[in-house]
Amino acid sequence: MGFDEIKGQDRAIKILRQVINNKHLAHAYLFHGPDGVGKKKAAITFAKALNCADFEDDVCDICVSCHKINQGIHPDVTLIQTEKGEIKIGEIRNIIRGMIYKPLEAKNRIVIVDESERFNLSASNAFLKTLEEPPVDTVIILVSSNPDMLPQTVISRCHRIPFSNIPTRTLTDILIEKNGLTPVAADHIANLANGSVSKALSLSSEEVQGIRMDILSVLSGKGNVKGNLFDLAEQYSKDEKIFYEALDWIYTYFRDIIMMKVQSDLNLIINRDFYDHMISLKEKISLETLLDIIEYINSVYKGQERNMNRQLALDVLGIKIMRSIA
Ligand SMILES: [Zn+2]
Repeated sequence: MGFDEIKGQDRAIKILRQVINNKHLAHAYLFHGPDGVGKKKAAITFAKALNCADFEDDVCDICVSCHKINQGIHPDVTLIQTEKGEIKIGEIRNIIRGMIYKPLEAKNRIVIVDESERFNLSASNAFLKTLEEPPVDTVIILVSSNPDMLPQTVISRCHRIPFSNIPTRTLTDILIEKNGLTPVAADHIANLANGSVSKALSLSSEEVQGIRMDILSVLSGKGNVKGNLFDLAEQYSKDEKIFYEALDWIYTYFRDIIMMKVQSDLNLIINRDFYDHMISLKEKISLETLLDIIEYINSVYKGQERNMNRQLALDVLGIKIMRSIA
């Protein structure tokens, strides 16, 4: 993985290449921008670039240093990340303690902190001291999609590298190249992914696409689908992640019909492969009813924190939909 493989972040990558070519290294960087757009990948690639034995506008990816960083076994490159929850003071102390020594093998020791807004207060304070008196040969990279949650005192000591949403067209190309989707399917999914590569890749997985086809086929009464809406409700309410994926597709379907009612730009329609059916429903269902369905779906999204009964929620939604179509 080199800079060339990080798509849609030309501005950030250009700055990082300049830093390496000019050898004007700051002690601390903040890579910030939306979720799933390549910030962590860029941080790891930057760590490789700073230590690559054969860097020429991009990392070689085969020298000993690149290899060790790729395998996650380089002694001087540390990636701190949490599954869920906070970054703990203990972890930070261990790392800060290690910083008093010179790097073992590398030109530059690199510490990457993913989701750095998850610092708890004492971890933040401990880290702040390090940022005030940074050890020589050490580069700290904070990665965050919520930089506003970081203390201002931390942010002000970092050189900021901004990352942006990935353009839809770039996402489409990535989906065609990586997941072998047809241009039409890739375009649908890219539109849904809101500029995030990771969201686009997860939406294009076979599992999610299976859920999409089941849901949309039932809603449009076409295809070879055994169950009706209520069978699907039972099936999809068992698992929380699948439940929300199913809900997302129901949402996009009715959102599409609303878009068709209020404007005529085909580019704004997500489920274009169901266009024919949606256009006939568009005549049958009033805007008021459509908005009522969307409002109910939004209340189900919000019900997540209140231990909502998922199957009941989908059953009620099914009844609303049946009534509106009948
Ligand atoms: Zn290399």
